[in-house]
Amino acid sequence: MARYNKKSSGSLGAVALIVIAAMVLSSVIGVAMGNSETGKTPSGTPSGNVTPSGNTVDPSGNPSGGDQTDPDKEPGPRETALSRQDFTIDPATGMAKEIKVVDDNYMILVNRSHPLAQAYKPDDMVTVKYTVSGVGVKGETDQLRKVAAEAFEAMVEAAEEQGIFIKMRTGYRSYEYQRDRLYNPEVKNKGEIEANKSTAKPGQSEHQTGLALDIGGKSQNYALSYEFGETEEGKWVAAHCHEFGFIIRYVDGTKKEPGALTGYVFEPWHIRYIGVKAATEMFQQGGGKLTYEEYLGILD
Ligand SMILES: [Zn+2]
Repeated sequence: MARYNKKSSGSLGAVALIVIAAMVLSSVIGVAMGNSETGKTPSGTPSGNVTPSGNTVDPSGNPSGGDQTDPDKEPGPRETALSRQDFTIDPATGMAKEIKVVDDNYMILVNRSHPLAQAYKPDDMVTVKYTVSGVGVKGETDQLRKVAAEAFEAMVEAAEEQGIFIKMRTGYRSYEYQRDRLYNPEVKNKGEIEANKSTAKPGQSEHQTGLALDIGGKSQNYALSYEFGETEEGKWVAAHCHEFGFIIRYVDGTKKEPGALTGYVFEPWHIRYIGVKAATEMFQQGGGKLTYEEYLGILD
């Protein structure tokens, strides 16, 4: 089954571009292969073109080009290229090979099998207005990509009009934050098996996209809480977040056991921006119980 939009690679022009791409890329990808936790990614790489395995692709290496998503136009839910085939050079063989490239758009899928490179950082982040003070790192975790920040602020203001008060605890989290402040301490505390049920490995957290955030409600003093879903704030969010482009992301697990598709326990506080059109479609199809993986049809 073809899960990714595959570009035609049959033309001579494409072959020529692969060769050019090979020349451009061979100097930057040599150290980028292998384990993303230990592999060093080149500095100063373009943020929108970093692959799950830590490789970097020059945008000019795109064999056909012209399919860049207009950032101002909300794409249809299934029109968006979540990932596409592109080309890089396998340092082991020196041959061009196809790789998956993560598109830097807000329908990006990030999970255990679709990680981000260590170097990936969105370049359009802004500080969010409604945050819980004393949580995370100022100037980092109080940020989201602009499109998500504006949607969240609109949601907070709409909720407030109905007497519902919510705030963001953490939004963007860097690869290093996820590794040093969350994942590694959790492994130390609980062991790797337990840690993996609730905590993403570095590179595998949606928070690194700048499109996901953890929220809390006033009735629980804005704490991170498994009971958030039972509060008036949690219920409001579950019923309305799609109107602002958000989904509750980890809906197939329980408090204790991770879901088979998302791989995480149920987190009523973790919402993800995917745009109003897709979020509304998901809500209509699954009543808030459909996973993003199912919606996208990407289950590997
Ligand atoms: Zn989260």
